[in-house]
Amino acid sequence: MTPDAEFGYELLVCRYAELAWHPGDGPRPVIVSRQLGTRERRWDTVVIEVDPAAFAARRAFGDRAIGSDLLHVVRNAPAEWAWYRDALPDPGYPWRYVREAIHRAADRNLIETRRNGNRIQTRRKRPYPDWVRRIVAVENKPDLDRSAADRLADQLSHDVETSLADEAWLATETTGDRIERALLREMPVEVGVLATDFSDGVDGASGDVAWHPSDLSPAGGDRDPDAETRRLEIAERAYGKGWRSFHDTMRPDCRHFELRREGRALVPNCAAKSTLPTARECSGSCPQFSPEPPQWRTRGWPIGGGPGKGIQWLLDRRRERERDGISGDDAVGRGGAGGDRGSAEPDRDA
Ligand code: SF4
Repeated sequence: MTPDAEFGYELLVCRYAELAWHPGDGPRPVIVSRQLGTRERRWDTVVIEVDPAAFAARRAFGDRAIGSDLLHVVRNAPAEWAWYRDALPDPGYPWRYVREAIHRAADRNLIETRRNGNRIQTRRKRPYPDWVRRIVAVENKPDLDRSAADRLADQLSHDVETSLADEAWLATETTGDRIERALLREMPVEVGVLATDFSDGVDGASGDVAWHPSDLSPAGGDRDPDAETRRLEIAERAYGKGWRSFHDTMRPDCRHFELRREGRALVPNCAAKSTLPTARECSGSCPQFSPEPPQWRTRGWPIGGGPGKGIQWLLDRRRERERDGISGDDAVGRGGAGGDRGSAEPDRDA
């Protein structure tokens, strides 16, 4: 399978996880994202299992991710007015950065601030909830050959050792064939194996557990505070980004860019190349890039800006709808354009 196909496979795994998580133990509410992790290790697909009530409380802080510096002030903001240096734990870096983060947090309506003389006081608007239950890392390798298995075994061993994730999986494609057992035996035994068959697109039943994973969380469940902070940063980034943000690094404003339906998933498609383009090739330097003509922007697309903007809007709404579904804010009739750039049919199933 080519790298292009691996990118497409990753998107299908993300959609599968959104529809069918947990593959072994039955439905759990999740936020799914991709290409997240730490400086040392980036995971293909990241599944954040959430507490629905706490997740609803998290949504009150808005749809954007709360970055690490803002998390420090938001999580520790006091219930009553206090000078920020009295209220917040020592950050381990200069206080002037904390002061600057406090102002940004207040600008985003995450906390309150006021001045008392020349001192800045802060107060929380609401408690930051404990919304993350578990973090699951999935490595995607549709074609598992010997060299890929060796590389993955090393990466997954790292995940098992660091136990930053609570669970780790390898997702691989079967398309009806038996998975190569000898290669799977190379994987750490703690890692689950998900055998997928997306030949008819994604639905809630296109994955089978070929090997059950072990719980990677430390005995007793306690991680050191640094690890907990890093996990929360990953979860926040997943919350803000989701997995449909591929449009941020591609060119939906190219006249050839469209969305293609793969079962219950929508994936990018290049009409000029009749393929699913990678973010690298779908860029302004693509030889076939052709900006959509200005007159397309007057054809009554869902919002101003033409079909490219319509695609971005549609994908953002899909992300929002998934969040709504977890927090109980699901609203009927939010659908926008359908499975290609030419349709404006409401569609709640992709
Ligand atoms: S022609 Fe190039 S820029 Fe346009 S959609 Fe295809 S890959 Fe992307």
